Amino acid sequence: MVHAPSRPPAGAPPVRINLYSDTQTLPTPAMKDAMMRAELGDEQHGDDPTVHALTDRMAALLGKEAAMFLPSGTMCNVIAILTHCRKGDEVLAHETAHILSSEGGTHAALTGAQIYPLKGARGLFTPETLRAAIRPRTRYAPPQRLLEVEQTANIGGGIVWPLEQLNAVADIAHGQGWATHMDGARLMNACVAAGIPASEMVAQYDSVWLDFTKGLGAPLGAVLAGSSEFIGEAWRWKQRLGGSMRQAGIVAAACLYSLDNNIDRLADDHANAKALARGLAQIEGFKVEAPETNLVFFDTTGAGFTAEQLSAALRMEGIMISGLGGRLRACTHLNVTAPMIEDALTAIRGIVARGH
Ligand SMILES: *Cc1c(COP(=O)(O)O)cnc(C)c1O
Repeated sequence: MVHAPSRPPAGAPPVRINLYSDTQTLPTPAMKDAMMRAELGDEQHGDDPTVHALTDRMAALLGKEAAMFLPSGTMCNVIAILTHCRKGDEVLAHETAHILSSEGGTHAALTGAQIYPLKGARGLFTPETLRAAIRPRTRYAPPQRLLEVEQTANIGGGIVWPLEQLNAVADIAHGQGWATHMDGARLMNACVAAGIPASEMVAQYDSVWLDFTKGLGAPLGAVLAGSSEFIGEAWRWKQRLGGSMRQAGIVAAACLYSLDNNIDRLADDHANAKALARGLAQIEGFKVEAPETNLVFFDTTGAGFTAEQLSAALRMEGIMISGLGGRLRACTHLNVTAPMIEDALTAIRGIVARGH
């Protein structure tokens, strides 16, 4: 079995509407221009001024002492867990968390931490659920060390943790002497949707990262932030994993560009997601989960289409929407316009009307 990504299906037309993921955005000419003008140095050696500009700015944005530039969000999660935990420690996270479902088993393979899957509607769990998961401190029980939350909760439906609930679960964790970690792949979507500054949103989290490739439009890059001590320790893992880079400022410049230009406009993505959800809900047999940010999950089995069937039919019309665990997930982002949403709805209505 080979695990390389699959290529587009034979005979598929070029993609004209890409609702597959906010990771599919391409850098714009203006972003590339910013990259070309970036001042560069050796990041690994501490000499890249553009990386410093980005990490300083992110530390300030997130209200943390220090920050670190990394190639991907997955590496942020891996390094955070390696830094917080020892082998055999337990991380408590929602059962749909990215660290459980989508990181290739890295926490078993690399961190040696085990993950306790917490239940709860739409990717969130309650303080009661978390309290019920506290284990006795005996030599039988795994040592519980870290609480992890996703803001927004991806598989939950792009759901925003209400600040009170976010703080309530963090309080429980800190009361137990655990650390708290936020997977903020789409943190800025949550902040824009809730109208809450990032530093306030993450104040009770010891470590937090956000992805520049999810809706912010950069080609790669993520920033992990925390205390100076935490980031200092995390640097050892960055080095060990091969995540220390060289003239990384060429990419950090794209991330800085996205901070300047692509945050406020996330509100447009949320409006487009709501418009899409409204249109989908009018199709007979479709069940649509009310979106809070840029993700729209819907179930089409009531209209006689599995997620895979509708996804494949749309791909043949140049529209990409992923099938994810029996549901479809449409994701709006900066390359998706309001007319494209109407266009996609027309195509979906046509496919459903024609049947198989
Ligand atoms: C995409 C994603 C990640 C991983 O980020 P990459 O940059 O793709 O490695 C982690 N957590 C969540 C919630 C995500 O959506």
